[in-house]
Amino acid sequence: MSNKTALTILVVDDEANLRELLYEVLSDGGHQVTAVASAEEALMLFDHQAYPLVIANIRMPGMSGMDLLKQVKQKNADTQVIMMTGQTSLHSTVAALRAGAADYLIKPFDQIEVVNYVINRTIEKILLLRDNKLLMTRLNKRNSDLDRINHIIQELALKDGLTGLYNHRYFHEAIAVEHARASRYQREYSLLFVDIDRFKNYNDTHGHPQGDELLKTLAEIIAKRLRQSDIAARYGGEEFALILPETDRESALAAAHHLREFVAAYPFPGRECQADGKITVSLGLATFPHNGDEPRILIDKADQALHGAKKNGRNAALHSCNQG
Ligand code: GH3
Ligand code: MG
Ligand code: MG
Repeated sequence: MSNKTALTILVVDDEANLRELLYEVLSDGGHQVTAVASAEEALMLFDHQAYPLVIANIRMPGMSGMDLLKQVKQKNADTQVIMMTGQTSLHSTVAALRAGAADYLIKPFDQIEVVNYVINRTIEKILLLRDNKLLMTRLNKRNSDLDRINHIIQELALKDGLTGLYNHRYFHEAIAVEHARASRYQREYSLLFVDIDRFKNYNDTHGHPQGDELLKTLAEIIAKRLRQSDIAARYGGEEFALILPETDRESALAAAHHLREFVAAYPFPGRECQADGKITVSLGLATFPHNGDEPRILIDKADQALHGAKKNGRNAALHSCNQG
C-alpha cells in the first residue's frame, strides 16, 4: 500500500487476542496502528493525535464503545468509526450506525476476508472524503482568487490609472444613472468641471513626471472634499468632472469656490513658477434641471462655463447662465 493511502488507525478492544489480530492485519496493509484496551485510553490518545479511523468494541468494561463513538464524532466529525459487536446485538449495531458509525464487524471473526473487506471499504470512504475536501479547499481558494481578480479587473475598467478617480467612461455611465434618478424623482443635481490653469507651463517648467504628481495630489484633494454620494472622475488630461447629486446651483457654486480657494492656497511644489505664484483651477458648472434636461446638454453647458471662467482670467468658478 502506498504512503498516500496509509492511515493512522486506533484499535480499541479489551480482548487482547482481537487487538493483536487487527494490529497484524492492518499493519500488513501498511497502516500505522495503535491498539489500546479501553475507551478511556483511546480518548486520551485521540485528544493528542488525529485518527481518521477508529475500530472499537461496542461493549467494554468502563466506558462503552458507544460512548467512545459519540465523543469521537463530537471531537472530529470526519473520523470514521467501525464498531465491533456481538452476533446477538443487532439492536446495538443499529444504534451505533444511527450514532454515526461508518460500519460494523461481527465478532468473533470467522473469515478474515470479511474483516478486510469492511475495513477497506471504510478506508476507501476516508480517502474519498479526504480527496473531496482537498478539492473543495482548492476550489474555494480558486473561487476567492477569481472574485478578487474580477474585482481588480472591474476597478481597472472603471478607474483612471494615474489618479485612482473614476475614468471618462464611468463618468458617462454615472451621469446617465444620476440623471435618470433625478428626473424620475424630480430632484436637482449639479455637474462641475475642473481644469488646471496653465498646466502646460507647469509641465514645461518641472517636467511631465512632476506634472503627474500634481495631478495625483489634486485628485486626492478633490476626493477628500467630496461627499460620499458625489462622483469624481478624471475627464481628460488635466480636467476633472464631478457629479454632485441633490445639489442645487447655489450649493454647487459654494462647493466650487471652496475647492478653488483650497487649491489656490495649497503648497504644491514648484507653484512659485506659475502665474501669481500659485496653482489654480478654473471651474464650470451646470445644474439639472435649470440648465438642461439631458446629460449631453448639461455637459456642454458646464464646459462652456469653464471656458468662460478661463476667459475671465482663470482661478474662477462660473455657473452656466444658459437655461436649457
Ligand atoms: P489653461 O489654463 O487654458 O487650461 O492652460 P493649460 O496649459 O492648462 O491647458 P492646455 O490645454 O494648453 O494644456 C494642457 C496640458 O496638460 C498639456 C498636457 O501636456 C498636460 N497634460 C495632459 N494630461 C497630462 C498627464 O497625464 N500628465 C501630465 N504631466 N500632463 C498632462
Ligand atoms: Mg488647463
Ligand atoms: Mg484642459
